[in-house]
Amino acid sequence: MFFASATFFVALTSNLYREHVWDAFTIVSLLKSKEQCGKVLEVTHIGEQKDRFTKAMGERNCKFILEGQPDAVHHMCDRCFITYVDDNGDSKTCQAIVGDGFSIGRPCCGVFRCTDPLQNNRHRFCKQHYAEHNVCAIVGCTAPISDAKQKSCSNSVHQAMEKKNKEKGNAAFILKERYQKYQLQHPDEGSNLTTHDSTVDEHLEWFEVESNGDVHIFNEPDPGTVGGGTLDDIEEPCPSKSMHGNGNPIKARFGRRRTHNEQTLVHPCGVIFARTTMFGAEAVSNFLVMLGNAFAVPGARKPEHVFYDTNCDARQQAENDPWFKDIGMCIDVWHFLNKHKVTHEYCQKNCNPYMYKELRDENGQWTFNTSVAEQTNAWLQGYHSMCREMLPARFDFFLDEMIRLKNIEVISKLEQRGKNPREYDL
Ligand SMILES: [Zn+2]
Ligand SMILES: [Zn+2]
Ligand SMILES: [Zn+2]
Ligand SMILES: [Zn+2]
Repeated sequence: MFFASATFFVALTSNLYREHVWDAFTIVSLLKSKEQCGKVLEVTHIGEQKDRFTKAMGERNCKFILEGQPDAVHHMCDRCFITYVDDNGDSKTCQAIVGDGFSIGRPCCGVFRCTDPLQNNRHRFCKQHYAEHNVCAIVGCTAPISDAKQKSCSNSVHQAMEKKNKEKGNAAFILKERYQKYQLQHPDEGSNLTTHDSTVDEHLEWFEVESNGDVHIFNEPDPGTVGGGTLDDIEEPCPSKSMHGNGNPIKARFGRRRTHNEQTLVHPCGVIFARTTMFGAEAVSNFLVMLGNAFAVPGARKPEHVFYDTNCDARQQAENDPWFKDIGMCIDVWHFLNKHKVTHEYCQKNCNPYMYKELRDENGQWTFNTSVAEQTNAWLQGYHSMCREMLPARFDFFLDEMIRLKNIEVISKLEQRGKNPREYDL
């Protein structure tokens, strides 16, 4: 049925467009997912084509949250699961998981940590907070906007800030147009022409007002817009300081907010156990919540070791939580050597992987590949330009589906290499 409909589209237009590829990907994925649980895919016959699969995608996304990644939930293999004899002579088992974040952001509601979807990716607020579009964009100002075309109130300084923001947007727009023109004239050199609109761009911006009333604008990329490298490469934005180190900074949100980053949990063999979106920040508390939720799905086996690059903070926060009591929370070898101070006693005492016998084999080599999450995230990062304008249903569906396909591939390679991938039965 799917192939017939895809051919039908192509025949009508005689060209293959991005929408056809996206529809094909969505329909095949949804049909397979329904087939696996013996159900039929039902979609609406009314409305726009772009909205037809949103409900079905949302249901599939929900299923993944409640039941986990299908090939990862019960997975074990010789690369991520070992048996060993402890100091008391008892036989023990050990499975490890590695957590890491990467900077793919999608547009989201401007209200801090609001997870409701935008109705349209040109909106700045969700349905519930839609009225915020009518409030001045300067942080801390609650006055209404001066008219429907403005994002600031009638305060002349706030209007000057909006003007600066527009000038910056226009300059970026002109440069984008010139670049696109150049690419059209030199198609062989052309890289991807993005459809991204700089006038709704979403940098972290702040302003300073001089005593003579002049307004200066400063900005840094929002971590969710960066799309290159891992979060380690991104300096913490510091909007409370100006570039000159003086003045009185005022923050504004003329553009959309973006989600902060994605977080993954990956087994050392490369099987991706879970992914989640971090809205406000990659805070340690959010990571702990993610861990608890990810392993709460039916049939999931709690790991014996969790590696995370800020586990020293995470472990301290988790000390009173019984769920974490029997879990080793070390920092991966590279981060421990390069990013954690030898003078930090708690870290050196609790998070050094050398403390655990099972983390080294009989030759003294590390048992698990703990840099696996960074390698996996570098792969996922490659989808940044495809995902950056997606609304949440499609964004989650796309990434989860890519992860599902990747897991099938990884498990097949583990099989070929004799690593005995299998499912455990709790
Ligand atoms: Zn494995
Ligand atoms: Zn909202
Ligand atoms: Zn204002
Ligand atoms: Zn530390």
